[in-house]
Amino acid sequence: MVQILAKRYNPKDIEKKWHEKWKKENLYRFNADSEKEIFSIDTPPPFTSGTLHMGHIYNHTWIDIVARYKRMRGYEVYFPQGFDCHGLPTELRVEREMNVKKEDRVLFINKCKEWTNIAIKRMKKQFEDIGYSADWSYTYKTMDDSYKKLIQETLIEFYKRGILYRGKHPVLWCPKCETALAKAEVGYIEREGNLYYIDLDSNGHKLTIATTRPEMMPACVAVFVHPEDKRYEKFVGRKAKLPIFNREVPILADENVDMKFGTGAVYLCTFGDEQDIEWQKKYRLPIIEIIDRKGNLTSEAGKYANLSIEDARRMIVEDLIEKGYVRKIKRIRHSVLSHTERSSCKTPIELLPLNQWFINVRDYIEDIIKTAKKMRWYPKYMLQRLIDWSNSMDWDWIISRQRVFGTPIPFWICECGNIISAEDFGLKLPVDPRGDIRTCPKCNGKAVGVKDVCDCWIDSSVTPLIISKWRVNDNFFKNTYPSSLRPQGYEIIRTWAFYTIYRCMILTGKKCFDELLINGMVAGPDGRKMSKSLGNVIEPEEPLKKYSADTIRQWAAGGSLGDDYPFSWEECDHSQRFLTKLWNISRFIEMHLKDFKEIKNNDKIEFRDIDLWIISKLQNLIENCTKNLDNYIFNVPLTDIRSFIWHDLADNYIEMVKHRLYKSEIYGEKSRYAVQYTLNYVLKTILLLLSPFTPHICDEIWNSIYDGYASISNWPEVKKGLMNKRIEKNGDLAIKVLSEIRRYKSENKIPLNNELRKVELIINTKLIREFKKFEEDIKATGRIKEMNIINSDNVDEFEIIISAM
Ligand SMILES: [Zn+2]
Ligand SMILES: [Zn+2]
Repeated sequence: MVQILAKRYNPKDIEKKWHEKWKKENLYRFNADSEKEIFSIDTPPPFTSGTLHMGHIYNHTWIDIVARYKRMRGYEVYFPQGFDCHGLPTELRVEREMNVKKEDRVLFINKCKEWTNIAIKRMKKQFEDIGYSADWSYTYKTMDDSYKKLIQETLIEFYKRGILYRGKHPVLWCPKCETALAKAEVGYIEREGNLYYIDLDSNGHKLTIATTRPEMMPACVAVFVHPEDKRYEKFVGRKAKLPIFNREVPILADENVDMKFGTGAVYLCTFGDEQDIEWQKKYRLPIIEIIDRKGNLTSEAGKYANLSIEDARRMIVEDLIEKGYVRKIKRIRHSVLSHTERSSCKTPIELLPLNQWFINVRDYIEDIIKTAKKMRWYPKYMLQRLIDWSNSMDWDWIISRQRVFGTPIPFWICECGNIISAEDFGLKLPVDPRGDIRTCPKCNGKAVGVKDVCDCWIDSSVTPLIISKWRVNDNFFKNTYPSSLRPQGYEIIRTWAFYTIYRCMILTGKKCFDELLINGMVAGPDGRKMSKSLGNVIEPEEPLKKYSADTIRQWAAGGSLGDDYPFSWEECDHSQRFLTKLWNISRFIEMHLKDFKEIKNNDKIEFRDIDLWIISKLQNLIENCTKNLDNYIFNVPLTDIRSFIWHDLADNYIEMVKHRLYKSEIYGEKSRYAVQYTLNYVLKTILLLLSPFTPHICDEIWNSIYDGYASISNWPEVKKGLMNKRIEKNGDLAIKVLSEIRRYKSENKIPLNNELRKVELIINTKLIREFKKFEEDIKATGRIKEMNIINSDNVDEFEIIISAM
C-alpha cells in the first residue's frame, strides 16, 4: 500500500501529474535494440495550422489506444509523430500577420519556419494534453533539411527512371491569389449567372450553343452534341464557324453531353471546366491559352486582349448582341468552382495550361492495386475504395506548385530544353535551385533553377521511409519497415494512402504497411459536418476544459471503423460519470485491501460461487476485449468494460459480498479473504483493460494501490480454467432474485437497508441444488430475516413471495 486514493476524483490534477510523470520517466520511449517484436506506427502528420481539431483528437486517440494496447501485449512499440509543414495557409498567414512579402524569398521562408515551429509547439502540447504516448525523440518535420533531402533524392531517382517528367497540363489556378491549387483547396459555390444562347453557323445552318462563359469563345476548339440527339444528327462530323472570330471548329458527338442542358449543344474551350480537359485529351484537340495568371485575356483574344474576365465577357456579349448572334439570355443559378479553402477569396477558379512536373501513375495502377491487396484493411471494404480510385485515374500526378514555402524541385532547365538534376551538378542535397543559374553541360547555355516547389503529398507520401530511416540506418530500417500499421481517415485514401503505397513500392519494391486502420470524419453534435457557418464546430479545448482527457478519449473510442461519428456532450457526461464511479469503487476496494496479502496458492482460498461468478465473467471480458482490440474495434470493448464495472462489479458483486467484508465474525475470516482476493484480482484486471482507453485514471489508481504503472504492465491473460458457464448462469439467477427483492422494496418505499420479515422462494426443482449456494448471500444482501426455499416443477425458474413485516 503506497498511498491512499484521494476522496474526490480530480482529473485536472491527476492528468497534469501523469503527463509530467510519463515525460520525466520517459515511460513510452522506443528502444530500437529491444529483443521484443517491434510494432511500428506510421502516424498521420497533421498540417501545422497551430491547432488540432476534433478530427485529429478522434483519429489520434485511436492510434494512442492501439499503441498502448500493443505495448501491454509485449510489443516494442515504435510510435513517432511528425508534422506536415508546407502549405498555402502558412504562406497566407505569414503574408498577412507578419507582413512579409513572398518576393523576399529567403526572409519569407524563414518567417514561415518560425511560424511553423510555434504552431508545432502548440500542437504538441495538445497531443500531450490527451495523454498521447508517442516517442517525441523521433519527431520529423517535413520542412527539415533531412526530410527535404530524402524527397529530392527520390525525385531525382524517379526522374532517372523516367517516372518523373515535365509537361504542359491545365492546373486549378486562383487568379486573385496567383497560385495553383490542389483539388482539396477548391469547391463549388452556388452563384447567380447568365446562360447565353449563341448562334454558330454550319454550312448555312444555324447551330445554337448554350454557355455561361462567352468570353472563352476565342479558345473554342470544338462543339459537342450527344450522339443520340436527333436534333443534331446531321451536324456531327461537320464544322461550325464561330461568330466575330471567324474561325472553324469541328462538331463532335460525345456521350457526356447533357442533352437537357441549354440547347443540347455545347462548345469546348481550353479550358472552361474539367470536362473540357477530358475531351481535349480524348479527341486530341489543340490548346488555346486564353487566360493569363492574373486572370486577364491573352493576345489569343485579339481585340479583347488584356481585359479582365468580367470586362471581356461584357464586351464580347455586347458585340455578339449587336451583330445578332445572341438568341436568348437566361438567368440561372449554377455551381462555380471557387477558391473555397480561403474564406476571404472565393474567386472562381480558372484551368490554366502550364508547364508542370508530373509523376507517371497511370502505368503503375495494376502494381499499386496488387501491393494494396497485400495489406490488411480495417474495415475491409476500404480496400475497394482504393481499387476504385486507382482504376479511375486518367491523369498523371501533378506534383509542382507555384508556391514559396515548400520542398524545392531539385532541377535546372536550360534554354536548349536540357533538364539537369542537382546530382548531375554534383551538389549536396537538399538544394534550393530557385534563382540559381548554372552552365548547361550540354550546350554551355544558361540553365535556370526550377522555381516550383512540391505538392504537400510529395512530402507526406514517404513517411514510412522517413520513420524507418531508409538509407540512413539499415538495421533500423530492417526492423521498422514495412510499418505495422498505417492509421488514417478515409478521405485521404485517394491521396495519402494511394501515393504512399505507390512511391514506397517504386523505391523499395515492397509494400509499406502490413495493416491499415481507417477512421471516418467527426461531425458536429447535430450530426452535420462541422462548419463555421453552421455554428456547430467544437474545439478540443472545450470538452477538455469541461471534463478531462480520459473523458474525450472515451468519446473517441466510441466511434466505429470507417464510419463518420458525431461529437456528443451526452457521451462526455456519461464518460465522466463512469470515471467517478470507477474512482469510488477503487477507493472502496482499496479500503478493504488494507490488511490484504496476496498468497501464491489460490487452491487454499475458500471461494463462494458468487466470487467464481465474477471471476468467470471477467475471463469473458478479457477474451472479448483482446479479440476486439486485435481487430481495431474500440467501441465494443469499452462498452463491455464499462458495463462490467457498473453492473457486474458495482451493482451486483460488491453488494453481494459486503456482509462478508464487514462481518467476518459471522461469516468467517477465510470468507473475507476470498472476497479480498477476488476484488484485488478484478480491480487489477479492469485497470489493465481500461488503461489503453483511460490511462491517466488507471495509472493513478494503480500507482496508489499497487505501485508501478498499469500502462506498462502486461495485458491480462484469459485463464480458461476460471471460465465456468454453469456458475455464471446460477449467479445470474441469484442476481435476478435479488433484483426482485430490491424492486419490491423500492415499489413499497422500503429503504434498501431495512429488514424484510419473510421471503418465500419457489424454485424449479432442477435449479435448487445449485441455487442453495447463493442462499446465504441473497439473505444477507436482501436483509431477509427468514427465507424459505421450496422446490416445485410448476415454475420455470422461480417465484417469490415477500412479506415486509
Ligand atoms: Zn484565391
Ligand atoms: Zn543547354
